[in-house]
Amino acid sequence: MTRLRLKLFSFLSLSLLTLQLVSLDSLLVSARVASTNPNPNLPQCSDIRPQGLQDRPQYDYVVVGSGAGGGPLASRLAEEGFSVLVFDAGHDVNNLNTTIPLYFARASDDPQLDLNYTVSEYPEGFRFQKNDAWYPRALEDSISDLEGTSSEEGREGRLVFALDTVWRRIRIWGALPVASNFDGKEESLEDRVERVLVRKEVIVSAGVFQSPQLLMLSGIGNSSHLEEHAIEPVVHLPGVGNNLQDHDEIAMIFQTKGNFSFFNGCTFLSDPEEDPCLEYWKESGGKNVYSFSALDVITSTSPRGEDSSEAPSPPDILSYFGPFYFPGFVRGYPQLLANKSHNSITAIALKAHPSSLGTVRLSGSHPQDILQIHKNRFQDADRGYQDVVDLREALKRIRKLIRGSVLIGPYVEKEIAPGEDVESDEEIEEYIYRNVFGHHACCTNAIGPDDDDNAVLDGNFKVRGVNNLRVVDASSWPNVPGFFITTPIYMISEKAADVIIDEARRSQL
Ligand SMILES: Cc1cc2nc3c(=O)[nH]c(=O)nc-3n(C[C@H](O)[C@H](O)[C@H](O)COP(=O)(O)OP(=O)(O)OC[C@H]3O[C@@H](n4cnc5c(N)ncnc54)[C@H](O)[C@@H]3O)c2cc1C
Repeated sequence: MTRLRLKLFSFLSLSLLTLQLVSLDSLLVSARVASTNPNPNLPQCSDIRPQGLQDRPQYDYVVVGSGAGGGPLASRLAEEGFSVLVFDAGHDVNNLNTTIPLYFARASDDPQLDLNYTVSEYPEGFRFQKNDAWYPRALEDSISDLEGTSSEEGREGRLVFALDTVWRRIRIWGALPVASNFDGKEESLEDRVERVLVRKEVIVSAGVFQSPQLLMLSGIGNSSHLEEHAIEPVVHLPGVGNNLQDHDEIAMIFQTKGNFSFFNGCTFLSDPEEDPCLEYWKESGGKNVYSFSALDVITSTSPRGEDSSEAPSPPDILSYFGPFYFPGFVRGYPQLLANKSHNSITAIALKAHPSSLGTVRLSGSHPQDILQIHKNRFQDADRGYQDVVDLREALKRIRKLIRGSVLIGPYVEKEIAPGEDVESDEEIEEYIYRNVFGHHACCTNAIGPDDDDNAVLDGNFKVRGVNNLRVVDASSWPNVPGFFITTPIYMISEKAADVIIDEARRSQL
């Protein structure tokens, strides 16, 4: 592994950003961007313009994070003819977990991929406590798409990857893993510096938790929170790390009388000798159940349900059903899924527009300090309890649907979660409070209008008060979109590419 430290300076007149890189065991990155109201204590661009940069690699854009937000954007910029350097803290893992679609669950706790974020679902003092909820790393792999457009001889555009690379801080330095399973901070890397020039912009796409972290470590955030951690504020943007949203999801699980025949022989293991399904999958070129990533049936309902005399609102509850055992994204679920899916049906009720607003906060100024992530579920004074009621009613509908279905009912042995004895409204609500989960966290660097104090980005994804810096990923929205969020992320990634390319063209006129 190569370690790299990167420092970025913005030369406003030259529209040139400079990055310093340190080559060490894994790539560790930091950068500096200029503020429109620069802190007078920070060195001015002319003071810090490094000498001898002519020999250094130069890029038009740096993109930090190659997930659903950063990947398509980087690709578009390269296709347009710009040179793009993409950093990602992850590396290119090519094993069964990343190859077999039905092994997606195994991928989410594969130690090579895992980031193992720990999240508090409720604030301190709430009558239910869930401070150790698991939020696995998102599994979007935009890198393989990008490789198809990487640099080719004779093309102007260039796409260069730095994997195993951690963007540590925009300006100073740090190191990635903020995961709870991370076991040691990096030593100072001050002494090993290389430099890269960035001519135009840095785009942060490090995801819902680490994009706000990078901004805060760089002095962009709520000044008082930054000062608590001895970080010198550069731009006071109180919205950074606020407005954390997610979908509310809750699982209902049924045991079937017999086993599903399509899982016959499947052990979900890594050795074909111990897993006939894996052996057949390999021999047949992927022609069995392992090539499915989900087997779902979906229904949706509006908040007021069918009995309302008012015109129905757009659907707000989605229920998806599949022939597997899935209690939600809880630690250990991949093993439960492998052991119990042969005779289980899971239905998930997903609330699309819940009222909860959470926070992402630093616990220290070192980039490897674990983030404090609070989802604050169901706390809104007016709508919080109603969210629980909506989920409760959704679970009742699922129960009725499964029991009453002539297609499914006769094959069901019993309900195993929450269980047939959980019947009263209070009991179902308690089950929801204890087992709610979500995997579409977003909105922690929200786009907003000029007069919104909590707006972090303007409508062109630019970080307010800072030049040459944008955020394009799940953190960019003001509100959680739709039922599943990856496609909307691809859409904003494409939109941001349009905006950036358009601006670049106009600046050349
Ligand atoms: C387990 C799971 C399953 C999901 N399944 C679905 C689904 O079925 N459908 C759906 O629509 N959505 C799904 N989602 C949601 C969706 O995957 C995410 O919302 C989406 O990937 C977020 O995209 P992003 O670009 O914001 O961040 P990410 O995809 O998380 O990408 C961020 C990238 O930045 C890198 N990074 C972070 N910090 C640094 C740093 N300091 N330096 C360098 N690199 C850094 C990370 O390594 C990562 O590759 C799922 C999410 C999870 C967690």
